[in-house]
This record gives sequence, C-alpha cells and structure tokens, in this order.
Amino acid sequence: MDIVTTPQLIAGNWKMNGLLAARGEIAALAAGLKGRARLPEVLVCPPATLLHGFSGAVAGTPIKLGGQTCHTAAAGAHTGDVSAEMLKDAGASYVIVGHSERRTDHNEANALVAAQARAAWRAGLSAIICIGESEAQRSAGQMEKTLADQIAYSVPSETTVANAAVAYEPIWAIGTGKTASLDDIEGAHAFIRARLEASLGPAGRSVRLLYGGSVKPSNAKEILSTRGVDGVLVGGASLKAADFLAIVDGARVAV
Ligand code: PEP
Repeated sequence: MDIVTTPQLIAGNWKMNGLLAARGEIAALAAGLKGRARLPEVLVCPPATLLHGFSGAVAGTPIKLGGQTCHTAAAGAHTGDVSAEMLKDAGASYVIVGHSERRTDHNEANALVAAQARAAWRAGLSAIICIGESEAQRSAGQMEKTLADQIAYSVPSETTVANAAVAYEPIWAIGTGKTASLDDIEGAHAFIRARLEASLGPAGRSVRLLYGGSVKPSNAKEILSTRGVDGVLVGGASLKAADFLAIVDGARVAV
C-alpha cells in the first residue's frame, strides 16, 4: 500500500492589515514559488475585503486563499459579518476559526468555534481551528486543562485531515516575539495529538497540527523540523513576501 503523506501547511494570517496595493506582495510570493518542484501547501489569509482582489493574482499559482473568521449562518440579518459561503465565493478555500484574537476581542467561545468549523464545511471550506493557552493559564498550571477543553468543545467530531487543521497558538507567543521553545512545542503537540486521537479516533492521528506564535524566517526551519509539527500559522512575518518565502523554505517537503 502506498504511504500518503500530507504536506506541511504554511499559512499566513494577515489579520487586519493590507489594502489592495498589497497584491504586489502576492505577486512577489507567486514569483518566488514559481518553478519549485516540491512545495508545502501555501496559504494566505488576508482580510476578507482582499480575497476577491487577490484571487486573480493567485490563479495558476500554488497559493491558496483563506478567510480569518466566519459567521455560522450562510446569510441573514448579521450586520458586519461574513459567511463561509461568501468567503468561498470570493476565492477562499480555507477559513481560520477560533483565533485567540477573535476569542478575546469578540468573546468567541468553544461552542461557537465548533459551529464556525461546521459552517466552513457546509460551504466547502477547510477550517483551521485555533487553540492555545494564555500566560495566566500556563503559570497557573492550567495549560493542559485549557487545551483539553478547547479540543473537546471547539474541534467537532467530524474533523478529518481533509477538512481541517488544528493550530496550537500559545497566546503569550502571538505577536510578542516570544516563541515557545522547541521542547514546549513538542510537548504541547504530543499532548494535543493524544487528545485528538482520543476524541476523533483514527482521524485524530492524521489531522495536521500547526504551531503559531512569533514564527519568523530565523526560527521557521527548526520549528518545522520539530517532531509533531505539521505546519505553521504565521502572523506578522507573513505580510512581506520575502519573509514568508523564507518560512516556506523551512518546510519539510517530500523527496
Ligand atoms: C497569529 O496571529 O496567528 C500569529 C501567530 O501571529 P504572530 O506570528 O505575529 O505571532
């Protein structure tokens, strides 16, 4: 039987940054990836306003686009919200759900995050489901309980490698320049993997597990080489094509 390995996923989260002129960064990213025979999966999640404008720039390139959140409904009276169907219509194939900035700024709790993942699937998108503990939870010895609860209540039972990835993003490492140590990442990923297997069965063995938190060109390769890391979710360092390309270069690719 052939062994099928899923490529590492290098995902960029632009957060609330970028205007249409940033198409130049996408074009530079596409130019940098051109002609490379072996690549990880490369995903850029710009603000929803830019998805349609970027869709032309990524056509014919390996770059995929994703949204940063979605409403649980397909349409309706939800002023200011964006549905998964709208993201798909604008050119997305992924959506991030449960990012800590959404959990904090918009009070998005575990059950809502699970419903957002299911909304993504209804629309034909893959979901990147984010989990991670705060500094306070970590220092109070609550890290494993926090992660276990997030897995139990925000990662739906239908999660598979084909429809989702889980991103471990310790909140204290996001946008702070404080990257988790490789030992911390390996340990947290092993814990999360065990919980995913316990709750999802065989699907929990293959679903990709990303690390996020101050990933940059200088640390990407060692993080991407760490046991149990199937990709990275990158914030600040995904905004510039040169930095993001250097991170892509750190990925493990099949030979
Ligand atoms: C993120 O926003 O998901 C993130 C990991 O940000 P940064 O890389 O800037 O820490």
